[in-house]
Amino acid sequence: MVQTISVLGSTGSIGRQTIAVAEHLGLRVRAITTNRNVKLAEEQARKFRPAMVGVTDESAARELRTALADTDIKVWSGEHALVEAAVISDNDAVVTAVSGAVGLKPTLEAIEKGRRICLANKETLVCAGEIVMRKAQECSAEIVPVDSEHSAIFQCLTGRRKGELKKILLTGSGGPFRGWTREQTKDVTPAQAIAHPNWSMGAKISVDSATMMNKGLEFIEAMHLFSVTPDDIEVLIHPESVIHSMVELVDGTVIAQLGVPDMELPIQYALTYPRRTESLSERLDFTKLTKGLTFQAPDFEKLPCLALAIRCARTGGTAPAVMNAANEVAVHLFLDGKIGYNDIYDYVIETVETLGVSPAHDLDTLIAADHAARETVRAIHSRKG
Ligand code: NDP
Ligand code: MG
Repeated sequence: MVQTISVLGSTGSIGRQTIAVAEHLGLRVRAITTNRNVKLAEEQARKFRPAMVGVTDESAARELRTALADTDIKVWSGEHALVEAAVISDNDAVVTAVSGAVGLKPTLEAIEKGRRICLANKETLVCAGEIVMRKAQECSAEIVPVDSEHSAIFQCLTGRRKGELKKILLTGSGGPFRGWTREQTKDVTPAQAIAHPNWSMGAKISVDSATMMNKGLEFIEAMHLFSVTPDDIEVLIHPESVIHSMVELVDGTVIAQLGVPDMELPIQYALTYPRRTESLSERLDFTKLTKGLTFQAPDFEKLPCLALAIRCARTGGTAPAVMNAANEVAVHLFLDGKIGYNDIYDYVIETVETLGVSPAHDLDTLIAADHAARETVRAIHSRKG
């Protein structure tokens, strides 16, 4: 049973919910990290008394060091602080709740130490899934998904033999612009894009959910987590977000996991697995599901980001890492008001086509591809800008 944890990205949406679950389960928080949210990091540090706080932003780190001067809590700065937090001594599990490919390095280092990874940061697997999964196997480190769909699939597959799985039914709500054409989405603002109908999440994943790039990233995440091919995964639009995903077994049986849309549930399960304990989550009331549960096949014409991600998943090599990094930069440009909503896809596809694909046998190749993609998006932006 996990007793002590590190939370990477403790000031974010998943991070804050993880802290609430840790409090509920009575876990010790050994390390927390933030990019630059000094105020909340200080509050969390005073409450949980971790051994260290990692702060990526150097000036925010200086500020926090001053604020915590009356305590013995160490403040580490820079990107390496994430690694220090991930591998701190005597933590049983690391919750990877940072946003973006910055989660890759600390995750790999924690795997090397054999820690359980409660994986929220899907970009890690999209960028370097084969390497991460291979290392986890070599180091006997468990990777337990936090992403609600993958937690659902993981729960549906627990106790099943590999050969019993026919296919994964990966569900997604379709986001706030379900059914909209590219023409209709052209003037979408960041505020509209981050207002998700069912889930309250960080800004980047909210935009990804609107473009459905999120489902594409989850498609690749599922391939790696469950060692399946693109042909084994079907995406299904399910606007009510009650079924979090399903598996079809070889005999035609379908197993689904249901619950209210609340990330505290999968976070708690990743921490208590294989056990279950009482949670603070609201219960599902079937009598309130008066509109029923509905399902549709995705319209790939209207969802170019999802179609592109599945194409990159099939291509393999450096393609998913390039797409992921390009998307990350493009989404931040959109959130900063520098490009339009439809430009996100245009920038990502142009980057993927410009850089092409190479085989990805090692981490350095993938990291170089990630960096090249970021540079390419910036170059496209300054050319068009
Ligand atoms: P948020 O944006 O809310 O939080 C991100 C956290 O990471 C914050 O603590 C942030 O610090 C920190 N951070 C951001 N950038 C950096 C950086 N460059 N270096 C170090 N730390 C950084 O994101 P979410 O909690 O929504 O998502 C986190 C991860 O979980 C993502 O990979 C997302 O895809 C995944 N996920 C999220 C779900 C959700 O419901 N939110 C559901 C399923 C998966 P600061 O506070 O200073 O910005
Ligand atoms: Mg999800």
